[in-house]
Amino acid sequence: MVRESEIRRNEVAVIPPEPSDAGLIFIGRIRTPWTSRLMAPRQGRPDGPVCRIEIFEPWQAALDGIERFERLEVLYWLHLSRRDLVRQSPGDNGTTYGTFALRSPVRPNPIGTSIAMLVALEGSTLLVRGLDCLDGTPLLDLKPDRTLFKPIAPEQPGDRQTQA
Ligand code: SAM
Repeated sequence: MVRESEIRRNEVAVIPPEPSDAGLIFIGRIRTPWTSRLMAPRQGRPDGPVCRIEIFEPWQAALDGIERFERLEVLYWLHLSRRDLVRQSPGDNGTTYGTFALRSPVRPNPIGTSIAMLVALEGSTLLVRGLDCLDGTPLLDLKPDRTLFKPIAPEQPGDRQTQA
C-alpha cells in the first residue's frame, strides 16, 4: 500500500546521522501526470504515459548522442520520502522487511531508478515512457540502458567473463 509519511505497525525508524554532503546536483526536472503518491504507479511501464524530462543549463550539451539509445536509465531524487525507516511494512499489515530488501521510495538516500523508453528529444527535453515519479521530481542522472551500451574505450582484462 502506498504511504504518505506515516509510520505503520511494527515499522522501525532510526535517528539518521548528520548528512555528509555528497554534492549532488539536480540536473533537471521530471514532469509527469501524477501529483500524488497515491496516484503514481508503483513501477513505470513501457506503455505508460509520455513524461517529460527537462534538462537544466549548463547540462544540455551532455545530451549529445543520447538519441541513439531507445532505452535510458533514469535516476531521480524521491524528494518527498522520509529517510529514517530501517524496517517497513509495505502491506501495512504488521509484517515488516528490511529497507534494502525493498524498492520502496523510503530509504536513507531516496534515489529512484527506472528504465525509460525514449520517444523523442525536443531541444533539451526528453519525452519518455516508463516513469513512476511525481510531477516535479528532481533528476539526478541519465545513462544509456546498460544492456544496449557498448563501452567506447578499449576492453579491460576484468571485462571478460571467466569460464566456469
Ligand atoms: N522505480 C523506482 C525504483 O524502483 O527505484 C521508484 C519505485 S517507488 C516504489 C515509486 C513510488 O514512489 C510511487 O508509486 C510513489 O508512491 C512514490 N513517489 C514517486 N515520486 C516520489 C517523490 N518525488 N517523492 C516521494 N515519493 C515518490
